[in-house]
Amino acid sequence: MNKRDTEKFKKKLVAECAGLETELNAIGQKDPSAPGGWDVSTSDIKVDSADENEVADKFEELEENAGIASKLEGQLNEVKAALDRIEKGTYGICETCGKAIEIERLEANPSARNSIKHKH
Ligand SMILES: [Zn+2]
Repeated sequence: MNKRDTEKFKKKLVAECAGLETELNAIGQKDPSAPGGWDVSTSDIKVDSADENEVADKFEELEENAGIASKLEGQLNEVKAALDRIEKGTYGICETCGKAIEIERLEANPSARNSIKHKH
């Protein structure tokens, strides 16, 4: 891959990274000690609340957010791994066959690890 293409994908990845962090910030807090790097459990749940339904709703919301967060964290990790590969000079190389990943595949998914033939 030439330098211009690499720079183009790097910009896309950096923007994607920022977007994912914004989404994660909306539902949780950055926490290096959390397994995925984000903590969504700090919502102000008062277990001793008088209204049981309210507590149940809160827990439901939290569970939903935790699901969303882990999906976003997964995407964020993929994007960060792709940025790492750019730094190491291995970006755009299929992890299965070692050949260049098709540009159109990277256009659709800049953090792709495998060629079209070897995508999972
Ligand atoms: Zn391949």
